[in-house]
Amino acid sequence: MTTSLNPRDFTKLYLNGEYVVAKSTETYSLHNPKDNSLAVEGIPVAGPADIDDAVKFAEAAFRGPWSTFTAIQRTECFLRLANLLETELMPILALDSLTSGIPLSLAPTREKTYIRNCILYYSGWTDKQKGDYYPADDGFVKLVRHEPLGVCAAINPYNSPVACLFLKAAPALATGNVMIVKPSEKTPLGSMAIASLFAKAGFPPGVLQVITGPGSTGALLAEHMRIRKISFTGSVTTGKKIQAAAANSNLKRVTLELGGKSPAIIFDDANLENAVTWTVNGILARSGQLCVAASRVYVQNGIAAKFIEAYTKRMADAVNDIGDPQDINVKYGPIVDAGQLQRIQGMVDRAKGDAKLLVGGGPVAGTQGNYMQPTVFLNPSNDAEIYRNEIFGPVSVIKTFETEEEVLAAANDTEFGLMAGVFTKDVTRAMRLSSSIESGVVGINCVSLQSLQAPFGGKKQSGVGREFGEYALRLFTEPKTVIINMAA
Ligand code: NAD
Repeated sequence: MTTSLNPRDFTKLYLNGEYVVAKSTETYSLHNPKDNSLAVEGIPVAGPADIDDAVKFAEAAFRGPWSTFTAIQRTECFLRLANLLETELMPILALDSLTSGIPLSLAPTREKTYIRNCILYYSGWTDKQKGDYYPADDGFVKLVRHEPLGVCAAINPYNSPVACLFLKAAPALATGNVMIVKPSEKTPLGSMAIASLFAKAGFPPGVLQVITGPGSTGALLAEHMRIRKISFTGSVTTGKKIQAAAANSNLKRVTLELGGKSPAIIFDDANLENAVTWTVNGILARSGQLCVAASRVYVQNGIAAKFIEAYTKRMADAVNDIGDPQDINVKYGPIVDAGQLQRIQGMVDRAKGDAKLLVGGGPVAGTQGNYMQPTVFLNPSNDAEIYRNEIFGPVSVIKTFETEEEVLAAANDTEFGLMAGVFTKDVTRAMRLSSSIESGVVGINCVSLQSLQAPFGGKKQSGVGREFGEYALRLFTEPKTVIINMAA
């Protein structure tokens, strides 16, 4: 499937309701990861003057037209946006796939459903930002309002660009904020194409703007004195830089959705087929380029032989499902670029002397693109890089264990804490582990899963704050207390 959209048409910035030529003259090119052919050139690196323009337009929208919208008018904008996406989203996801390599087979079901549900979910929250009331027992009535923060910026990762835009923009706009989005420099096209749909849906100019550029552009947002919040998704290393830049500039609010090294724990009594299916899908979805990838698999000794046989077979067979991401029938695509593939291959090569390689271990033969074989290692040592660091590729490690205490200690022996999965039929054990595992989300008989309705985010170095559900709304607003003197 090809896209009807031309990448060249999206080599501008989207500011104040229109595509404009960037003031900065610096640009860069991107390649299609399926064969490393040139996908687009001339993508702007937005500079200080471009960011200042975006902030100026955002402030004008925030204080001007957007502030006059009633909650129901904001809902109507969201509903029109959802309707527009019925026809406009698929070509945009196809355009995005040209540099992200995200398989188009995910577009009609997963991506579209996720994005549509996100818009519909948050469209219902616009008129439910109720506050508090405290009586005048001390002679003063106290009212509490949840007010928007103002100009917010989203800095997004490469692996789910369009969905990430909506996950951040929907709660931000539902609560009356305005937002500047910077997609990853690797995958900017879909976000840039989506931008104009907000204006078509009736959101005033300046409410949602999109700029492009690498980390240096992101840093300009993080240190800007008139941006009030950064909602960041990406690596731990970058998250720390953003936190520091926010602290050193204007103490803007920061939400950080960072990396993971998610454990999946399979006990002897687990439903084997269910455990194999979830753990394989949990490492192969988006070719492992997923924050919640089930990259550490712990299996109890009694079921280990059967599980490892079934798991490694499924991982080995999956190489046949890898192919051209623009082919609607292909399940798994490439790694986003040659640099990322090299990084993953380096980690895999360094692991070979330590752990037992069960499956894969190299690039997919006969391809010109950045394709990595599904790869599984058995029993790496506790300090092995492949065991401790996020790989962000289709590479997992399996460790065997005997007792619950032993596996709990191993699962928690990490600075990451995003997602975990526990596979068992024992409800009591499942509930016990759901308390003691140190992660923001725990799946019971499932893993690598998020729900729009419930908070999502990391413990420890996997993040600060929460996205999804009502919790995201609280992090885009701040309470203001009004005290009324009843004696005056
Ligand atoms: P990355 O940290 O390299 O880049 C993310 C974004 O930060 C990009 O837009 C980049 O341009 C920008 N950036 C880089 N340096 C910056 C700086 N100094 N100041 C401001 N912005 C800067 O991450 P990536 O490689 O694009 O994405 C992969 C990472 O994202 C993985 O660690 C993955 O686990 C994580 N991730 C987390 C979630 C989650 O919800 N927790 C979801 C998806 C991805």
